[in-house]
Amino acid sequence: MASVPTIRLNNGVEIPQLGFGVYQVPPEDTAEAVSAALEIGYRHIDTAEMYRNEKGVGKAVARSGIDRGEVFVTSKLNNGFHRRDDALRAFDQSLADLGFEYLDLFLIHWPLPGIDVDYVETWKAMEEIYASGRTRAIGVSNFKPHHLRRLFGGTEVRPAVNQIEVHPYLAQDDVRAFDADHEIVTEAWSPIAQGKVLGDPAVVAIAERLDRTPAQVVLRWHVQRGDVVFPKSVSPERMRENFALFDFELSRDDMATVTGLDRGERTGPDPDTFNHVAS
Ligand code: NAD
Repeated sequence: MASVPTIRLNNGVEIPQLGFGVYQVPPEDTAEAVSAALEIGYRHIDTAEMYRNEKGVGKAVARSGIDRGEVFVTSKLNNGFHRRDDALRAFDQSLADLGFEYLDLFLIHWPLPGIDVDYVETWKAMEEIYASGRTRAIGVSNFKPHHLRRLFGGTEVRPAVNQIEVHPYLAQDDVRAFDADHEIVTEAWSPIAQGKVLGDPAVVAIAERLDRTPAQVVLRWHVQRGDVVFPKSVSPERMRENFALFDFELSRDDMATVTGLDRGERTGPDPDTFNHVAS
């Protein structure tokens, strides 16, 4: 099977373009799911403090026998820890739960523009964490261009990635272009819209013609656009299907057909109005 390409972040760190996401994987099932993913060949895991399953991710990496340096692991600062001291403590807790000495990528999970802590302050805490050498890169998630512009004004380190919702029903070409113009890699969360796009007649028609599955067509579309993706599944069969993206290509016309499905439809919240802080 063809290997997964890497993308170079703005600080020189290489990230595998395809990973495995563990949102909504129950904590007690996470070690098994991540072990299966590593066995299949995934070398990039996307977790978050919010998912409550960092321990399972760390356990699977430790028992895999694969060198820590061969697996790229991302975690995220949960809502409710945006103050400097809380952010530093939350990072320490994530590392402890993962059982790692360092993370590969740490993100602010949501900007929460309506709360009483400014995300610019939070980003300064992220810069401190980065300067400590305990994460190889820092970035943001769910930031729109106007949130990023505010960060650029008051801070030093440019985010390495912006992880946002992207799929054929929400192509996000404006945010992706802004990210690219500022050397920020876009990561596409919910890349198959949690399954919603897989029955789309246009996607199904391409899949049938190419003898691929609808999920492979959609994930390949992301890959050819240059974004990083990490589909989630707990079924090893689907994990294998989602991993087999690098031995076929979509034509320019097929790419345009999938992009043409954009209808501005979110499966998750709008970052401008989402201010939920878990207790
Ligand atoms: P997804 O688009 O990856 O879809 C997952 C769903 O699709 C699951 O129900 C799964 O069973 C199904 N599925 C997976 N592969 C399939 C296949 N080949 N055929 C048919 N069905 C299949 O959605 P997601 O889990 O929301 O997103 C992926 C990852 O993105 C998450 O696990 C998480 O790591 C990340 N994420 C980040 C944020 C954020 O705010 N930063 C938000 C949501 C998700």
